[in-house]
Amino acid sequence: MKCPFCGEADTQVIDSRVSEEGDSVRRRRRCPSCEKRFTTYETAELRMPSVVKQNGSREEFSRDKIRTSFMRALNKRPVSTSLVDGAIQHIEQKMLSLGEREIPSLKVGEMVMNELRKLDKVAYIRFASVYRSFEDVDDFRDAIQDLDK
Ligand SMILES: [Zn+2]
Repeated sequence: MKCPFCGEADTQVIDSRVSEEGDSVRRRRRCPSCEKRFTTYETAELRMPSVVKQNGSREEFSRDKIRTSFMRALNKRPVSTSLVDGAIQHIEQKMLSLGEREIPSLKVGEMVMNELRKLDKVAYIRFASVYRSFEDVDDFRDAIQDLDK
């Protein structure tokens, strides 16, 4: 790694240790040219994949859009906000654990559907009927369209 002080191309690692939590590596480096020392940290890159829409364009993952889909499907259903938060968290963790840079919006829709199935049967059917085009339910068509905007 390049020296941040003098730009020397190669620096030496003089110490390397794993953090107490085990989730990062800290390295002490020394520049053989200017003798300065510096520290680098290595951590796993955990980044949400971008969502690829059906028309091929991409957008940042949006928790708000997911939440809107949940709220539409769960309209007037007895499901607490904390359960919805938990479901959204599941989806985010699943997306992170894929380790992909991109994910199709259809797959995000499926994850929403799976979580709704666990939360509330009525909401699940509302969402699924729109998502899978079983029926013409205009109110809830918007839910999946939001995921694809
Ligand atoms: Zn240097």
